[in-house]
Amino acid sequence: MSESSAHLATRIAVKLIQRESITPADGGCQDYIESLLAPLGFVRTHVDAGGVTNSIYARPGELAGTLAFVGHTDVVPTGDLAAWSHSPFSATIEDGILHGRGAQDMKGAVACWIAAVAELCQAQTPLPTLQMLITSDEEGESIDGTIRLVEQMQRDQSLPDAAVVGEPSCSEAVGDTIRRGRRGVIQVRMNVHGKQGHSAYPQDADNAIHRAAPALAAIAATDWGAATDGFPPTSCQITNIQGGTGASNVIPGNCSAFLDIRYNPGNSFGEIKAAIEAACHDIDCTLDFDHVATAFSTPDGIFLDQVCDAIAAVTGITTCRDTGGGTSDGRFLAAAGVPVAELGTTNSTIHQINEQVALHELQTLTNIYRHIIEHFEVSHD
Ligand SMILES: [Zn+2]
Repeated sequence: MSESSAHLATRIAVKLIQRESITPADGGCQDYIESLLAPLGFVRTHVDAGGVTNSIYARPGELAGTLAFVGHTDVVPTGDLAAWSHSPFSATIEDGILHGRGAQDMKGAVACWIAAVAELCQAQTPLPTLQMLITSDEEGESIDGTIRLVEQMQRDQSLPDAAVVGEPSCSEAVGDTIRRGRRGVIQVRMNVHGKQGHSAYPQDADNAIHRAAPALAAIAATDWGAATDGFPPTSCQITNIQGGTGASNVIPGNCSAFLDIRYNPGNSFGEIKAAIEAACHDIDCTLDFDHVATAFSTPDGIFLDQVCDAIAAVTGITTCRDTGGGTSDGRFLAAAGVPVAELGTTNSTIHQINEQVALHELQTLTNIYRHIIEHFEVSHD
């Protein structure tokens, strides 16, 4: 049984990788997914936006509760084609390894979830309501991607009870790590205005560097609070400062700085923005805030336990519930109040030349996904 599903997962992964879908192109992947899911009772809703292909595939369940899989069909560019040992869209299998762009991030995981669902449907196992949320813009701007799917589901009042995100979360072996949250990202461009002048006549000028320096020192010295809920403390790094004309005798009329902030769920965007504005309150400056990603965290509870139990049942591994890494589309679900766990393949070659995944990983991941779906219970926390 597991061998046939692994076979199916591999076959689907090959077909997905062969569909060239460099972000935000979909390359026909989502039509192909529809061709696999429709015979299993899934109905597709198109939520295309801004040139991005987005789909919700939903299958009403025999059991209570709704479980979603969240994924993307786009991949990052290949880089130098000549550097690849196997053409990135050939999906070559050699010595138990599937080679190609998207093998780990994340066509492999998409294929595993479909294979798991197909096997359960064919066995006529009673299932919860299942949804697949698939976008073709995760690797790019992510402006018209998963957020649009979540908005659609909010309008339809069809948000799931929990979601598995197929991002490659694992380090050494499938199941060793899930991500239950990610830090948020805020970027700030700061422009301090003074008045340019001759350094011998400071009374006629207003030194923008002198204005900026205490404000930047206050920002750098800000205590954002302790580590919280498995996350490291919030960090605000001043990554760039520019000021001065290059001449030694000119008082600068302008000074700019760039701040990169990684914050944990113990802080909020509003709180951080207010603190930075307060540090700058007595200088003439403009602050442009870009809230790149919202922090999110799924608390320990029934859903994370179910995911880790499934991993333990299939692999015997005790899973690390991690909060590291950059951002992920999980944040859009989490912001809508949906518990999120990211679980995919290992991530040793993501975004690299010669991206690849071991076939046994696809087999293991399919088995874990099947276990999660089969034993899904709605949390009443
Ligand atoms: Zn990804």
